[in-house]
Amino acid sequence: RLEETAYLDKLSVVGQMAAAIAHEVRNPLTTVRGLIQFLAKDTKDKKLEEFAPLILDELDRTNKIITDYLNLVKPGKPDLKVLQLDKLIKDTLSLIRPYGFLHNTVIAYELTGENDEIVADEHHVKQCLINIIKNAIESTDGKEGLITVYKHSFSKDSITLAIEDNGKGMSEEELQQIGLPFYTTKTKGTGLGTMIISRLIRDIGGSVRYESKPEEGTKVLLTLPVKSS
Ligand code: ADP
Ligand code: MG
Repeated sequence: RLEETAYLDKLSVVGQMAAAIAHEVRNPLTTVRGLIQFLAKDTKDKKLEEFAPLILDELDRTNKIITDYLNLVKPGKPDLKVLQLDKLIKDTLSLIRPYGFLHNTVIAYELTGENDEIVADEHHVKQCLINIIKNAIESTDGKEGLITVYKHSFSKDSITLAIEDNGKGMSEEELQQIGLPFYTTKTKGTGLGTMIISRLIRDIGGSVRYESKPEEGTKVLLTLPVKSS
């Protein structure tokens, strides 16, 4: 999409400064968080006891917003290597599974050992998978969630992964807005996750596609380049 590309290029220029500021703001934020935690520990002060968790939550939220922006504007040059897809997925799932447990959601993946080599930047692919799976987990909204990750299809120069959830799904209208900057339907969302996904995946020569039905769930198709023979 041409519009999106132009937007992203502009963002990367403006973003240099934003990234620098965000980086600087993070340090004092971490200090403040530590201090609040220290003050609130075993305190007898009722007000402090009541409000400390709120302060910590808001600090965490600020930190999350900064992280989302940093990932968007400063993804770094992709470092392309031959990667074993099974291992990469397994590693990523162990990072995100605890978040799934918190939301009553199970993530399934069957190791196949076949069609396993991709050429990509490990960090980029992990970041994309985490963002996709996080959205899938959040879409299940407390009901018993099931997310399945599998190798969906193959071509001469790519592998397509599917990440399928049984969450709330999206309408046609919602589907069209996905990936637009700041588009979110969540009260505490940033609307940057799907943008980060398209950017990172574009940088390594892959692509991402969404299929969804309201109330049924969503399937994300992530196409990754393979080693040319
Ligand atoms: P955020 O997660 O902060 O809202 P994202 O860019 O990651 O921002 O996602 C944008 C929006 O796309 C979400 O708010 C949600 O409405 C929709 N979305 C993304 N993935 C899914 C999914 N798997 N199921 C349902 N809706 C989704
Ligand atoms: Mg998200």
